[in-house]
Amino acid sequence: MNAKALKKVLFIDRDGVIVEETQVDSLEKIRFIPHVMEALRTIRRQTDYLLVMVSNQDGVGTPSFPMEDFKLCHDRIIQILEGEDASFDDQRIDFSLPQDGCPGRKPGTAMLADYMDGQYDLENSFMIGDRASDMQLARNLGCSGIWFHEGHEGGEGIVLETSSWLEVASFLTGCDMEHRKAHIVRTTKETSIDLTVDLDGNGRGCIETGIGFFDHMLEQLVRHGRLDVEAHLEGDTWVDEHHSVEDMALCLGKAVLSALGDKRGIQRYGFDLLCMDEVHCEVSMDFSGRSDLVFDGRFSREYVGSFPTEMIRHFFKSFSNEARCSLYIAFSDGNAHHQAEAVFKAFARALRMAVRRISGSDEVVSTKGVLE
Ligand SMILES: [Mg+2]
Repeated sequence: MNAKALKKVLFIDRDGVIVEETQVDSLEKIRFIPHVMEALRTIRRQTDYLLVMVSNQDGVGTPSFPMEDFKLCHDRIIQILEGEDASFDDQRIDFSLPQDGCPGRKPGTAMLADYMDGQYDLENSFMIGDRASDMQLARNLGCSGIWFHEGHEGGEGIVLETSSWLEVASFLTGCDMEHRKAHIVRTTKETSIDLTVDLDGNGRGCIETGIGFFDHMLEQLVRHGRLDVEAHLEGDTWVDEHHSVEDMALCLGKAVLSALGDKRGIQRYGFDLLCMDEVHCEVSMDFSGRSDLVFDGRFSREYVGSFPTEMIRHFFKSFSNEARCSLYIAFSDGNAHHQAEAVFKAFARALRMAVRRISGSDEVVSTKGVLE
C-alpha cells in the first residue's frame, strides 16, 4: 500500500503581509502589499501547498471595531484575492484581545489544532508573518518561519527574511520572480551609452539620445512594450545619426538578451498586427538564439524631419544581431511618420509578448532544450 503523501501548508498572516498593517475597518483602508497577488497566484499554480490564512484581529466585535466593519473589509479582501486566482484554502481568525489569554491567539496553536493531527507535513511547511509572534507560532507548529520584514537578525527556525513577495515566491517555487534587468555601459570613440532595461517594468523611463525623432520612437518601445528604460547617449551627431542609432540598437539588443538569461519560462515568440491611420504593419519575432531580419516595406520619404528613414531598418538589424532574435517586419505605404511609428509600436508589442513569462512554467520553449 502506498503511503499517502502528507500535505504541506503555508500559514500566512494577513495584516502586514497580505494587506498593510492597520485596523482595516473601512474599504478605503484596504491596501494590498505589492506583488502579493502575483506571488500567491504563482505559488498556487506551481506548488501543492495548502494556503491557510492565520490572523489575530484584536477586539473585533467591540464598539471600536464592530464585526460588520471587519467582515465588510475582510470579505472584500478575500473576494479580490479569489478574482486573481490567489485564494486561500482555509482561514483561521482569532478575535480576542491580548489580555484575554486566549489559547487560539497567535502564537498559540489552539485554532490550528487540526493541522497538528499528523495529517500534514509540518516539517516542510512554512509560517509567513511580519511579527515575532508569527515566528514563534512557526516554532510552536514545528514548521519553518518566513519573516516578512527586513532588519531583524534571524532566529531559530527562520529560513528567510524579506519584505518582497517576489522573493518569497522565488524561494518557494525555485523560479526567479524578480524583475529581469540589465545594465549596459558602452563607450567608443563614436558614442557613449548608459542603458538600463527592466523587462518587467511598467512602461516608464527617461530616454536622451540627442536625436528628437529617435527619442520619440524609443518612447513608443517603452510605452507599448511596457519596458522600464533609462537610456543616456552622447554620440557624434555632428557627423550624422548613424553611430548613435546603431550603437543604441546594439546596446538594447544586448540588454534584452542579458535580461532574458537562459530564457526559461518565456513565451519566446511574439507578434503584433496594428494600423496607424492609413498604415498597416505587422511584426513577428523569435528569440531563437539566431539573428535574422526581413524588412518588407518602403518608406514614402527619405527623411522624417531630419531623421533618415534608412536608419530604421539598420536599427532593427543591429538589434536582432545582438538580441539573437529573428525579426520579421512588414508595413504598407503611407505617411512616413505613421510608417515609422507603426513599426516601433508593433515591434514593442511583439517584444512584450515574446519576453513574457508563462505563469507557472520554467521550461525552455525548444525541443533542443536550449535557446542559445
Ligand atoms: Mg501581521
